[in-house]
Amino acid sequence: MTTETHQVSLAQAMGRGFRGKCPHCGEGRLFGRFLKVADHCETCGEEFHLHRADDLPAYLVIVAVGHVIVPLILAVETAYAPPYWLQALIWLPLTLVSSLALLQPVKGAIVGMQWQFGMHGFEAAKKRRAAETMTDLRGVASSGTA
Ligand SMILES: [Zn+2]
Repeated sequence: MTTETHQVSLAQAMGRGFRGKCPHCGEGRLFGRFLKVADHCETCGEEFHLHRADDLPAYLVIVAVGHVIVPLILAVETAYAPPYWLQALIWLPLTLVSSLALLQPVKGAIVGMQWQFGMHGFEAAKKRRAAETMTDLRGVASSGTA
């Protein structure tokens, strides 16, 4: 227990956020509703209301989905030239579903990134984690010499 670190890597924090889990403990839920970030983690109490994800998740989803869907549309148009009504029937729902499917995970990853970097209101939480790690390291060092 004394060797447990309070440091969470950026990849861990973003991965936990991507899965909708608390970036700190990886257990509690990050979201209360679809895109509504919970106020705090019900497992470890970490505060989430300090995030400022704003429109970044939506921009990233637009870029990611656009870079997949648009080349697919062009490739299908070039190769098969299907009627426009059929293309609309395929690409519009595919774009909508993939955007909605990615929005929450991407927002979770952004919140995890902000939390790990100590951005915005997460600065105090980052300092607290660093202090807890230093306390743990001192405890390990003193128990190792005793
Ligand atoms: Zn937690």
